[in-house]
Amino acid sequence: MGKRILVTGGAGFLGSHLCDRLIDEGNDVICLDNLFTGNKDNIRHLLGNDYFEFIRHDVTEPIFLEVDQVYNLACPASPIHYQYNPIKTWKTSVLGAMNMLGLAKRVKARILQASTSEVYGDPEVHPQPETYRGCVNTMGIRSCYDEGKRAAETLFYDYHRMHGTEIKIMRIFNTYGPKMHPADGRVVSNFIVQALKGEDITIYGDGSQTRSFCYVDDLIEGMVRLMNSRADFIGPCNIGNPGEFTIKQLAELVIEKTGCKSKLVYMPLPSDDPLQRKPVIETAKRELDWEPTIPLDKGLDKTIEYFRSIIK
Ligand code: NAD
Ligand code: UDP
Repeated sequence: MGKRILVTGGAGFLGSHLCDRLIDEGNDVICLDNLFTGNKDNIRHLLGNDYFEFIRHDVTEPIFLEVDQVYNLACPASPIHYQYNPIKTWKTSVLGAMNMLGLAKRVKARILQASTSEVYGDPEVHPQPETYRGCVNTMGIRSCYDEGKRAAETLFYDYHRMHGTEIKIMRIFNTYGPKMHPADGRVVSNFIVQALKGEDITIYGDGSQTRSFCYVDDLIEGMVRLMNSRADFIGPCNIGNPGEFTIKQLAELVIEKTGCKSKLVYMPLPSDDPLQRKPVIETAKRELDWEPTIPLDKGLDKTIEYFRSIIK
């Protein structure tokens, strides 16, 4: 029999893919979202389904629901959106986590937190294993998000220790794919949209900073496996693709694949922009028997195809 599952942030990029997957598996899904960066178009095809409910609600306010599992994804993920109102980002991350943990505690639901590689900050250890404690600026423009996610992890561990709440901490590394918002501001969507529109491709800094890009289907597989892993494995667990690329390499790959004539233009590097990032995924391999299967080359093809279909 299917489970009753709450997905906060379910109308966003990752959340909407997760809702699809959970519905396909025969679960009863409640998608909760305030539509700040999410979009009803992402879940429109599910709205008529008897096993799917959408609730417009802000996680900073408590809510009472009866569910078996909670995936807590509500939080803007793109720097332009989380920096738009940093105090609200903190509230979403921390008060949102408290409210969802309170709900999980009350109904004895298992709860997964969508944490992030940003808890490692601008890392001095490369690549990043879960044991690395991070190098995060408390005062910078990324701090509302990075420290908010760190505080949320702490709350999860405290609920686990104090109340025995069943938790799972997932540290997500940069993920891309269809349904990213075209104006989201993240690097993969920016470059593809710029290329398809024939606009200049905006590289921040000299483009030598690195990121590891995980295709969304791989990420969702890891997320569902982590949620359903044995109860005494609580994480943290890195989920990401260890393939590491410079931002300049990504731009060149997008130009090659789209066949566009865009030029590369260089713009100032935003402050606290991490120089390098690459996950160690040994924990996920060992505990979840998970590793990514879709290389950047293939994932970019699917993502470019999606953006071609929505850009007029
Ligand atoms: P997204 O912005 O597309 O989705 C976030 C969703 O949360 C949106 O639908 C938004 O409307 C909703 N939301 C925001 N504030 C809310 C609030 N106060 N109450 C209710 N809903 C709210 O981002 P995404 O890429 O899908 O990210 C989902 C989660 O995964 C986030 O928690 C993010 O921090 C985490 N994450 C994502 C990545 C990535 O590369 N995509 C990397 C690391 C972590
Ligand atoms: N970036 C860029 N051009 C853009 C958008 C982003 O060069 O149009 C860079 C950004 O400075 C960062 C990297 O790409 O070094 C990844 O940025 P993104 O916002 O996607 O994710 P994050 O920095 O949170 O990993």
